[in-house]
Amino acid sequence: MKFEPERRPLTGETLDSLAASLAERGEKPFRARQVLDWVYKKRARSWDDMTNLPKALRTWLAETYRLMPASLVLNRHSADVTDKLLLELEDRSLIETVIIRAPQDGVGLDHSRKTICISTQVGCAMGCVFCASGLAGLKRDMSAGEIVAQLLQVCYAEDARTPRARSELASFDNIVVMGMGEPLANYDALIRALTIVNADWGLGFGARRITVSTSGLVPKILRLAEEPLGFRLAISLHGATDPVRTQIMPVNKAFPLAKLLPAVKAFTERHGRMVTLEFILIEEVNDSLDQARSLRDIALDLHAHVNLIPYNTVAGLPWKRPSGTRQVAFASILERAGVSVTLRREKGHDIAAACGQLRLKTEREREEAPSGAQVSS
Ligand code: SAH
Ligand code: SF4
Repeated sequence: MKFEPERRPLTGETLDSLAASLAERGEKPFRARQVLDWVYKKRARSWDDMTNLPKALRTWLAETYRLMPASLVLNRHSADVTDKLLLELEDRSLIETVIIRAPQDGVGLDHSRKTICISTQVGCAMGCVFCASGLAGLKRDMSAGEIVAQLLQVCYAEDARTPRARSELASFDNIVVMGMGEPLANYDALIRALTIVNADWGLGFGARRITVSTSGLVPKILRLAEEPLGFRLAISLHGATDPVRTQIMPVNKAFPLAKLLPAVKAFTERHGRMVTLEFILIEEVNDSLDQARSLRDIALDLHAHVNLIPYNTVAGLPWKRPSGTRQVAFASILERAGVSVTLRREKGHDIAAACGQLRLKTEREREEAPSGAQVSS
């Protein structure tokens, strides 16, 4: 389930790993930082851009590494303030990276706050019945270099849109690991990638602005709690009792609420920061007022924020979102008890729904016309 490329992606190297392989060639230690500066700060798009490196070193780098392991197939900019980047990996796998723009204060019209939603696997093995990403199972894990490459592609896209605002820093505010795949099932690559994203020699992006979302792999949640970089955590709950959750998320059989909730509590206690509980509202599956009351009790106990997301329809799946009245009635039960709750209403602001669906459409088109690599927008 691993893809071994001919040349390793440079975006998967840490300062230490790159310095070690440069040292083997007899290069000076400062060269590693110089190379990574070209990648993350100056956003070099070719080896020849790296003008302060000797030609022989550039040739060796080009033979040994791949500068960018994900190429842009499509950038779909939509009026509802999301940009979806469809990226193709070296084995032709497709992944999606989404840019969501929102007002700085959550209510204005400026849309200058940017959240990037990244993927960690091609497909997903967890089998949640409502999800587009898991429909065809897991194809493979993404490498650390491929995970990081998504963020560099976002930087390229943003640099191109506003060349004058181009800065050495990443031009976005938050990263959410809520795209395709279960991030904690690809733990080592995830942590390596986020370490590169966070490091001053990488994108220099603060760990507190990175949220990892999981369907609930308990041992990995406990491991994440011990990571020196304090990432934020979101749990895809979607069911407030075991029977409801098991019906839509098979992971609940291995890690039922009696195991999951104490792990979330341990994480909160370790970090002193609120965890987010994601709860998709699906008509007649988990939208009863009894579910709302159970969710309220869980949120109060964990001192967690609740994100209610009206279900986004997936072609070929029977699930629907409840009516607006029903959504509000559900949210009110939490609100009245003093739970911090958000009900997502505007299209496109819905991070979760934004991910996975463009890829699904393109994969389906490819299946229908397997000989052509053409992708329509
Ligand atoms: N595997 C991880 C992260 C990726 S899924 C996880 O499950 O948390 C990101 C979020 O999208 C999850 O909360 C998931 O349940 C949600 N999601 C999946 N399909 C959706 C849909 N059709 N409508 C709305 N949210 C959806
Ligand atoms: Fe995988 Fe998350 Fe989708 Fe479940 S919701 S199938 S864990 S991507």
